[in-house]
Amino acid sequence: MARVAFIGLGNMGGGMAANLAKHGHDVRAFDLSAAALDKAQAAGCLPVAGAAEAVAGAEAIVTMLPAGAHVESVYADAVFGHAEPSAILIDCSTIDVATARRVAEAAAAKGLAAVDAPVSGGIGAANAGTLTFMVGGPEDAFERARPFLADMGKAVIHAGASGAGQAAKMANNMLLGATMIATCEAFRLAERLGLDAQTFYDISSVSSGQSWSMTSYCPLPGVGPETPADHDYQGGFAAALMLKDLRLAMQAAEGAGATTPLGAHATALYEAFVAAGNGGTDFSGIIRTL
Ligand code: NAD
Repeated sequence: MARVAFIGLGNMGGGMAANLAKHGHDVRAFDLSAAALDKAQAAGCLPVAGAAEAVAGAEAIVTMLPAGAHVESVYADAVFGHAEPSAILIDCSTIDVATARRVAEAAAAKGLAAVDAPVSGGIGAANAGTLTFMVGGPEDAFERARPFLADMGKAVIHAGASGAGQAAKMANNMLLGATMIATCEAFRLAERLGLDAQTFYDISSVSSGQSWSMTSYCPLPGVGPETPADHDYQGGFAAALMLKDLRLAMQAAEGAGATTPLGAHATALYEAFVAAGNGGTDFSGIIRTL
């Protein structure tokens, strides 16, 4: 078992660090929040007073931070000056592709191996250890990160070179945002045309309109499997986080010269939904605006 630094013990990182500890790793945990540190300690991690202290002597350094600026500053202030030359740097935060590539280049310039490894799956999957990791970085860095990621997830997939993990995450979540809105529209149209929602679900879920948004995350209460719709759109994937991912996708698309009209429209609709005070509502709650 290894010594692991874990920085960023929020909604996601708290459960992930706990799973590393459960697998027998010596987890040195740091967060700016004292409450998060207490929770990590109760879950079997050793709380430390600063990121540099967590990093020193660690074989793997995992970060789960809000955005690119946080990752860049933690890497510059604590990771680069204190990491063992043999350490593997694993950033699981969802950040923009350009920052992910910049951070990987800075690590490589210091002789450190690094991967971007954003996740699919929410807080439930982080707690249960069933996340999917999409990983960008050189093959040997991927192989070194893989066992640590496997202790926190059900699938670990090498997406390609540095930044490819974030690219996969952006493209996937843009697709998710667009299919969720399209699924909501289809239910509303079917209702207006006199179809019972359950009947439309039974037909569409085995027809060509089927998608994950329909069959695994149905936006209507009482139809399909249990989802946040059955809990008044609470406790799932917050619309504010979907909007964050859509904005990152639009930024990446612009930088790459990709044409994404549906992604842009989905972004505008989630911008309006969040601006109307629904940032904490599950993203499938957008059906209420249709
Ligand atoms: P969060 O805000 O709950 O947690 C972030 C944590 O980072 C906080 O506890 C904060 O105190 C800490 N932090 C910030 N700056 C720090 C610093 N300099 N040093 C140490 N700690 C610092 O966010 P979250 O929901 O856990 O999300 C983390 C990342 O995972 C984000 O990039 C998010 O987009 C991504 N993500 C979230 C979900 C989800 O459902 N919540 C799902 C997939 C991916």
